[in-house]
Amino acid sequence: MASVQGWKVLTGARWEPDELVQVEREREELELVEQADDFSALATLARARRIARENGLRYVYTGNVRDEEGSSTYCPGCGTLVIGRDGYELTRWHLTGNGHCESCGAAIAGVFDKRPGRWGSRRLPVRLADFAA
Ligand SMILES: [Zn+2]
Repeated sequence: MASVQGWKVLTGARWEPDELVQVEREREELELVEQADDFSALATLARARRIARENGLRYVYTGNVRDEEGSSTYCPGCGTLVIGRDGYELTRWHLTGNGHCESCGAAIAGVFDKRPGRWGSRRLPVRLADFAA
């Protein structure tokens, strides 16, 4: 357990370092005990993300906010930004074809396509009736 300026992060055995964690409002599963007035403020979420990373979690993201730094993936080996995200847009892609960091070769947890997708923030209407059983 670590405490940083009024925050406590309880790092139990159920959190694996490579587990993907999204820090968002009212995320009780993260076991963050916070004393801030507004948990949804970007600065608060960014702080929670930093604390979780300092406590050994490698893939922690801020959720439900526009935060390129907190939405991007960084190499646990060398710290290089390997997948940049801004909203639904991919801004950078520095993975090899088999999901390793281009800079140091460390494996990045996850399953990745050989090349970045291009879906972005566009929308596609879906008729639910087309998928009814
Ligand atoms: Zn690396």
